[in-house]
Amino acid sequence: MSPRAADLFPPQLHVFVRDWLSSNNILLKSRDGHVLIDSGYGRHAPLTLALLATERGLGMAPLAFLVNTHCHSDHVGGNAAIVRHYDCPVAVPEGEAPLVERWDHKALLYDYCDQQVERFTVDHVLPPGTTHVWGDLEWQALAAPGHDMGALVFYNAEHRVLISGDALWEHGFGFVMPPEIDPAALPATRATVEMLGKLDIRVVIPGHGEPFTGVAAALDRARARVAAFEADSVRVARHALKVNLMFALLDHQRMPLAGMSAYVERVGLYRDFNARFFRLPPADLALLLVGELEKAGAVERVDGWLVPARA
Ligand SMILES: [Zn+2]
Repeated sequence: MSPRAADLFPPQLHVFVRDWLSSNNILLKSRDGHVLIDSGYGRHAPLTLALLATERGLGMAPLAFLVNTHCHSDHVGGNAAIVRHYDCPVAVPEGEAPLVERWDHKALLYDYCDQQVERFTVDHVLPPGTTHVWGDLEWQALAAPGHDMGALVFYNAEHRVLISGDALWEHGFGFVMPPEIDPAALPATRATVEMLGKLDIRVVIPGHGEPFTGVAAALDRARARVAAFEADSVRVARHALKVNLMFALLDHQRMPLAGMSAYVERVGLYRDFNARFFRLPPADLALLLVGELEKAGAVERVDGWLVPARA
């Protein structure tokens, strides 16, 4: 975290910067009860609990409340483990609650994208437009649809801090569904970027990556990405598949190259997108995705395995 961004946080706000498989964890401490925002990915739940147990985290103190910005696997994957350990209630955005209640793995992009999440129960819903006091700070819950149509961001006007989830990163935002799959997603993404542009924000705590202060530049990059996506929906589809394949690779750690064709045929997201956008033999789609990730320096082939590129 750049010292400047961290210096701008009130003392009761703590950010645990994670990686691409697990979202960042934000801890808001208060004598009225400590609140955690987002719980990371399931595979990392032991690490999430270990971070929470540190002195910078909760130490031996209880957790009063777990809140999620949205319900994708990398933000709610630790929910079940945290509830088991701390016995705290869970709050999710109002728009996400019905999907979680019926465990809609396609809408939530779980099994449908080859992402594993231990089932959890919703105790409270957070309607957009409501205000909550967490960590002795007032947080406005604002609708931020796009990457996830039910997502919320949390804004504290006093310190001009935005907890943005995957609605805004320093370089972009979470992948978006192409118009042919969800016609509302890209227009919503654009509207969310414009909505965020109207807020007075000094520091953003994104769902992934370090907290950052260059908010205007980040919004400009987000607008440019929206425009590029609006111009080419196949690009949107390809981006979504590459991001999901990279996520799966980080989850599995390595995938057999010989199995990639069967993988893109078996996993719903790739199968459906292929039928809609690419119409390639599965082996060719696998080759296309692996080749593009390789060209971007994100993956390597090692002894018949696809592995994440070493930094
Ligand atoms: Zn995320």
